[in-house]
Amino acid sequence: MSAKTLIARTLLDGLYYTNAYRLLEDKYKGVGVILTLHHVVKAENSSPFNINRLLEITPEFLEQTIQQVIALGYDIVSLDEMRQRLINQQFSRRFICFTLDDGYIDNYQYAFPIFKKYNIPFTIYVTTGITEGTAILWWRCLEKIILQENQIDLEMNGRNECFESKSLSQKKIVFDKLYWYLRNMPLKQQHTVILALATKYRLSVEELCLNCAMSWDMLKEISQNPLATIGTHTANHLALAKLPVEDVKNEVTVCRDKLSQHLQIDADHFCYPYGDGSSADTREFKIIEDLGFKTATTTRKQVIRADHNNHLFALPRIPLNGHYQQQRYVQLLLSGVPTGLWESAKQFIKR
Ligand SMILES: [Zn+2]
Repeated sequence: MSAKTLIARTLLDGLYYTNAYRLLEDKYKGVGVILTLHHVVKAENSSPFNINRLLEITPEFLEQTIQQVIALGYDIVSLDEMRQRLINQQFSRRFICFTLDDGYIDNYQYAFPIFKKYNIPFTIYVTTGITEGTAILWWRCLEKIILQENQIDLEMNGRNECFESKSLSQKKIVFDKLYWYLRNMPLKQQHTVILALATKYRLSVEELCLNCAMSWDMLKEISQNPLATIGTHTANHLALAKLPVEDVKNEVTVCRDKLSQHLQIDADHFCYPYGDGSSADTREFKIIEDLGFKTATTTRKQVIRADHNNHLFALPRIPLNGHYQQQRYVQLLLSGVPTGLWESAKQFIKR
């Protein structure tokens, strides 16, 4: 566990065990929550690397969370129903939406059966390049290369660097270093570097992507279930804010058109890849609205408030994070207190 995660957990535990969050809940809890999930995988198959593991929860934790939110009296609703409640300002009961990003095969294997078992609605935002094996899942490529190699040679900032990656602890250090090096690069350069590494260490980027992805047949089966909403999550999972306007529109419409052709649906809910402030902002929100979508979600971490009916193309979500797979963390996050306090602190610092 990273130091940052340890500090965050200590603060969350403090809020929980002192019951302090209950005093603040009324101020911060909002009207509902959209939850974000990525991978649902067995604990023994989870990533050894912190940054990737936070995108993974176990099937047991998903099931436990569903039981927990039902017991807490939430309505589990579809994105259409959530939008309707926001537009009509109907908040007699609090709501939860389950959303899963990207379209990974484990969603079909583990999450879909659980949603069917409890008969609850869910959304999968699909990146069609992942379905077709053309997206570059650079963070997974990097993981695979570091796991299989004892040494990584890479030219960084004009210098030839050599990283020893024999032991697991060495691999973790190398992964963190190279992850952020790549994450902060311009897109083209990022792809050039990861493709060069893949060639050098004999990794098929396409095969890796296809092994992670749901097939069109699986997506078809899911899309035909009335519990499912299939949303648009772009063609290639690029940070849209880094692209020219025409490329943004292309990334979005190519994905939506393919989903429409293959699945005979209107994929009219959208989710921004990465979804943080540097990947999607006011320009992108406007483009998505103009393209006729019903809603769009980010990864800004907040509960939904009544006034989000004025921000339907920039809806925040709360992640179910692999490092916080405990009922007390779910209860805290649903209260809106930790994210609300964090937001208030940021506003205070800005002043
Ligand atoms: Zn995504």
